[in-house]
Amino acid sequence: MIVVLKHNPDRAQLESLITWLQEKGMIIHTSIGDHNMILGLVGDTSQIDTDLISALDIVESVKRVQEPYKNANRKFHPNDTVIQVGNTQIGGGNLTIMAGPCSVESEDQVVAIAKAVKKSGATMLRGGAFKPRTSPYSFQGLGAQGLEFLKVAKQETGLPIVTELMDLSQLSLFKDVDVIQIGARNMQNFDLLKAVGRQDKPVMIKRGMSATYEEWLMSAEYVMAGGNPNVILCERGVRTFENYTRNTLDLAAIPVLRKLTHLPIIVDPSHATGKSWLVEPMSKGAVASGCDGLLIEVHNDPAHALCDGPQSLRPEAFDSLAKQLLKLHDLMSTLED
Ligand code: PEP
Ligand code: MN
Repeated sequence: MIVVLKHNPDRAQLESLITWLQEKGMIIHTSIGDHNMILGLVGDTSQIDTDLISALDIVESVKRVQEPYKNANRKFHPNDTVIQVGNTQIGGGNLTIMAGPCSVESEDQVVAIAKAVKKSGATMLRGGAFKPRTSPYSFQGLGAQGLEFLKVAKQETGLPIVTELMDLSQLSLFKDVDVIQIGARNMQNFDLLKAVGRQDKPVMIKRGMSATYEEWLMSAEYVMAGGNPNVILCERGVRTFENYTRNTLDLAAIPVLRKLTHLPIIVDPSHATGKSWLVEPMSKGAVASGCDGLLIEVHNDPAHALCDGPQSLRPEAFDSLAKQLLKLHDLMSTLED
């Protein structure tokens, strides 16, 4: 971090700034020019608040030269994180396929879809029990009962469960859940992030609708700083001027995150496009771009789905897609050799 001081800074204020930074473990290199003095801070600057320093009378400007996230940073953790979930692993060269209905609607529905997606090669069952809906009049999910139905589907298929946690008060109901999803709308719900950081189930953080990579990684940092290293990132499209698609899928997020972080990267082409016919090409693009897995919505009767029918694949379409994706993923690993 570089701190540029104003011309002729007040001595006492400068000394107190330097002492404060040294107490925070910083080593300080001072350069004195004709007009300005510059402090170069070396050490773990992730815990230094740049706004606090910028606000001082003697400071002209502050610039970070290192990312503000440490736990999620590949620089400090060069090897990819691999997360064990049941008998499957997320990351480490595997292609994780999370599939299932947007919302759990009944026991029969979720069990039938779970069986179908498992047969096609899905490695995890994804279904919503608590649903964040734009309208308060839309179906809000079956709540605790939905979790019970997911549990039955898990018992019948052996597939681990991924489902969304919307509020701290729901956490005690999540005993049988394998991966906790934090939805796009909650990406910066810091109390929720802190709470899932204090427990040990893996956490999948979906990208906020207008979140930058750094903001998203800072959310991962919240969970990791709380003591939970098992964080997965999920690109689900961002909001742009384009309204033909539900969101705009940012495939560049995959190689960028791969460079910045060691955490596994999942892509959700269903919410990213909002259209079932776009799920296949976008899934292939995501696998070709090196993601660790996909989240794909599948429904046995999309026309009557209680949520997100237009973006849901029928089980037969998912079957053909999952098989192609596994082949493509194998092909990608041979190209990399
Ligand atoms: C979901 O995954 O069901 C969902 C609501 O997605 P997002 O949080 O990405 O909008
Ligand atoms: Mn959905």
